[in-house]
Amino acid sequence: MAFFDLLRMIGHLLCGHVRLYQCYTAVNWRTCEACLSWHGRIVADPRDFPAHDGCAHEVLAFPIWRLGEHRRKGERMKAKAAEELNRRGKWRTATELLQKDPASALSLFEEAAKTDVYLEEVEKLAEEKAAWLRENAEVRAALREIFLRGWRGKFTKERYERQPELARTAQEQFGLARIRELFP
Ligand SMILES: [Zn+2]
Repeated sequence: MAFFDLLRMIGHLLCGHVRLYQCYTAVNWRTCEACLSWHGRIVADPRDFPAHDGCAHEVLAFPIWRLGEHRRKGERMKAKAAEELNRRGKWRTATELLQKDPASALSLFEEAAKTDVYLEEVEKLAEEKAAWLRENAEVRAALREIFLRGWRGKFTKERYERQPELARTAQEQFGLARIRELFP
């Protein structure tokens, strides 16, 4: 255990904390920024993480001697939350730029899709830009390819491997068909 983790542990023990809690939220396109900022944090009181809205919350206890391991896990979780905020920023900018500067918009959509693709957002985009996309077949086709690639990538990532194979494949196929339908 790293020296500073040991010091922190002693600090907690002196306060009478024999267990600590790690905060979790489901990181996805609709998790609010307040909850994202809690993802991975370690607290002494499980009530510290305010359950103020509809985002998924979980606060899990761990014994104090595992602090080092949970701090490292917390760093990875915070990085994931930051990545989601970054993805949203790119998606937002790309949406604004689409008609003015499609080339830049496409490269931003591509970057965002490498982190993740959410069908709800893809549907909203197709709906908002429907008239313009009808007139711009090349951009429409490029978007379709970006989202299809991103959607396939989503299902190769580790978190989906725990799902039963059949459910995973059905969900993947559903998304691919939906993207082709939205961006014909
Ligand atoms: Zn929230």
